[in-house]
Amino acid sequence: MALFGAHVSSAGSILKTFERAEEVGAEVFQFFLRSPRVWGWKGVSKELVSKFRERLSEFGNPVMVHAPYLLNLASPREDLRRRSVEVFLEELKFCDELGVDFYNFHPGTATGISEEEGMKNILRSLEEIFSSYEPKKTVVLLENTAGEKGDLGKNFEELSLILKSFQGVKMGICLDTCHAFAYGYEINTDTGFSEFLKEVEKVGLENVKAIHANDSKVPLGSRKDRHEHIGEGFIGLRGFENLLKHEYFGTLPYFIETPKVDDMDRVNLERLRRIYSG
Ligand SMILES: [Zn+2]
Repeated sequence: MALFGAHVSSAGSILKTFERAEEVGAEVFQFFLRSPRVWGWKGVSKELVSKFRERLSEFGNPVMVHAPYLLNLASPREDLRRRSVEVFLEELKFCDELGVDFYNFHPGTATGISEEEGMKNILRSLEEIFSSYEPKKTVVLLENTAGEKGDLGKNFEELSLILKSFQGVKMGICLDTCHAFAYGYEINTDTGFSEFLKEVEKVGLENVKAIHANDSKVPLGSRKDRHEHIGEGFIGLRGFENLLKHEYFGTLPYFIETPKVDDMDRVNLERLRRIYSG
């Protein structure tokens, strides 16, 4: 059975995420452990960790943490790459402690270097991470990107290269519909969707563990990451119907990361549920 939820703010306290999820009728949710555009982090008290774990077990459904946007495991600048590895490790350990199901991250960006060099840096960074810590509960999810300005992990070849390098580690894919479409996967037509399914096989369908459900403000292949409300962008309801009616994709948790205006989280979730049960 598919579950539907949203990205929610953790401002103030990570415990507030539960109330914020409930407010929009989310059955699953995603949040940032820290402000996503700053390096610093105050950390969380032991007491808060145990309260969070308690709430999480009552909640019962999958919860995901999204890594900060600042991380770049592909960076040619050794100081930035090292810092990214440290933050990733710190957050991954903490996710495990909290008992969250997924830690989602964008693989990395090749800035001023070739994509091959960037990919080597990603593999080296993940090697450093997983050789010093193996998560017990939390599954690390690679999110596909739109392929904007050197963003790696934009297609299933690149994702599978990473996945196959770490076969002993709990790792999977989070499929962002907006990024996939913006990269060039035409998920909103019959032929496009069956082509897409063939491509997904490169990572193994069963390795896709979650969906970031976002429509796209930009047309197919634009390679820009611009999220739109469900059904109001270039993907349209049809693209979401293809996923939700699919025998495997229709069993995954869906997290919307659509613009936070008015009551739109609730509206977007209703749209997905209507397609799913329609
Ligand atoms: Zn996403």
